[in-house]
Amino acid sequence: MKTAQEYVDSLAAMKHNVWMNGQKVERPWEHPQIEPGVNIVRLTYEWPQMEEYEEMMTATSHLTGKKINRFTHIHHSAQDLQYKCEMTRHYCREVGCIQRCMGIDALNALSVITHHCDDSFETKYYERLCNYIKYFQENDLVGNAAMTDVKGDRSLRPHEQADPDLYLHVVEKNDDGIVVRGAKAHNTLAPYAHEIIVLPTRDMREEDADYAVAFAIPADAPGITMICRGAAPAGKHEMASPVSSKYASVESLTVFDNVFVPWERVFMCGEWQFAGHLAETFATYHRHSYCGCKPAISDILMGAAALVAEYNGIQKASHVREKLVDFMITAEIVHGCGLAASLKGNETPSGTYLPDMVYANVGKFYAGTNLHHEIEVLQDIAGGLVVTMPSESDYRSEKIGGLLKKYLAGPEGVDVDDRVRCFRLIEDLTASKFAGLLMVAGVHGGGSPQAERLAIYRSYDLDGKIRIARKAAGIEQ
Ligand SMILES: Cc1cc2nc3c(=O)[nH]c(=O)nc-3n(C[C@H](O)[C@H](O)[C@H](O)COP(=O)(O)OP(=O)(O)OC[C@H]3O[C@@H](n4cnc5c(N)ncnc54)[C@H](O)[C@@H]3O)c2cc1C
Repeated sequence: MKTAQEYVDSLAAMKHNVWMNGQKVERPWEHPQIEPGVNIVRLTYEWPQMEEYEEMMTATSHLTGKKINRFTHIHHSAQDLQYKCEMTRHYCREVGCIQRCMGIDALNALSVITHHCDDSFETKYYERLCNYIKYFQENDLVGNAAMTDVKGDRSLRPHEQADPDLYLHVVEKNDDGIVVRGAKAHNTLAPYAHEIIVLPTRDMREEDADYAVAFAIPADAPGITMICRGAAPAGKHEMASPVSSKYASVESLTVFDNVFVPWERVFMCGEWQFAGHLAETFATYHRHSYCGCKPAISDILMGAAALVAEYNGIQKASHVREKLVDFMITAEIVHGCGLAASLKGNETPSGTYLPDMVYANVGKFYAGTNLHHEIEVLQDIAGGLVVTMPSESDYRSEKIGGLLKKYLAGPEGVDVDDRVRCFRLIEDLTASKFAGLLMVAGVHGGGSPQAERLAIYRSYDLDGKIRIARKAAGIEQ
């Protein structure tokens, strides 16, 4: 397993083509808007080296028998799925979004679907993928999952779009590999990932066969351009933005301009019958990850709500207690869904374990549709200072700082500095650029709520419920 320093050194050896704010970024891993994202990934190299986290954060490779980082592991038991869910909550309490889950969620999905595809079409994708996974594990790599196409007109299928490049597609096939063109959107951690793992974003029909493509490519391969946006604040202050000045993700609009992919890295090419199945399987793994990270966001918001209640002197008010219990219910329902999805996970023909689709989707749906309410409750308990508190420079000013120290006081015994820091945290979590990202990620990350509803509907045993009602009503089966 790599150390955090080896991870950063490995980024320095790459040549990511990254753009931000109209400028080409020469050393992305050091850019002030990107470094907070790198800091998050660094932790995924640091914590597995600690004895207390070894069991949860490392695993034994089913391919080599070696000890590996769990973020490079293919799940082979319900226990593996449970560790992933718990590990994700653990990391995200510190950083908000751990980011590294998506690459391994993509590889797990591929390990299920390439096997099915080989069974149906006598292709050789699974063996190829296993060789790639070995390489991924041996080098302890970070992968971005690039699934979401830019999609143009959402009512049209890929081949019907006015510009054929609005979904990524194959433009050439030759003896050595394929050439692809198009763009993938919202690619978290792409500018500091080693690899980009590309998956189709939806179901396809025969006319869309060129769009049914999956592969892995080094993130700095020729022809790739990343146009990025970071969630970190523009400047660093001691008190302001306590989370996002240290930890914040970066998303990229990743353009593939005639990118060559050698055959040994191609895991689907034209098998349109499996495109939707692959997208759905990735979504199941990723929504299962959300059952770890979203409870962690609830943990942070809940802790901040309890703390600010104390700092405002309202911790004993009955409405505050009720609201804190609402946080507890949301956090534990979502995490409970993650654990249930693990426990009821199924072994697929490749040996890879797949979380239960209903529980994984219910958990993500419930988390995403409750997040805005959780933020509202925290703002409610905190009060308007979340957005009106004068700046840190005023607070530190020799001339007027004294006024703020006097008038920002809370209950007797509460240090004013601590109260101000608490409000700065809540501003960062609920009323900043970073907060906006958390909110939209809650709704759309891993798929929109409607996609989750559809997945629940499709995989739920509704007929079984109709049979129950028939029996209860005395209607012949
Ligand atoms: C912070 C963040 C990080 C992300 N990271 C990644 C990542 O690393 N990799 C990745 O691949 N993706 C990533 N995503 C993308 C995420 O999966 C998508 O945002 C999500 O699937 C929604 O797609 P969209 O943004 O294109 O919105 P749209 O699909 O345009 O959805 C907008 C609305 O349109 C509706 N809609 C869409 N199509 C139809 C249709 N045909 N008929 C009817 N209604 C429709 C949706 O239900 C929704 O209500 C990330 C997203 C966020 C917010």
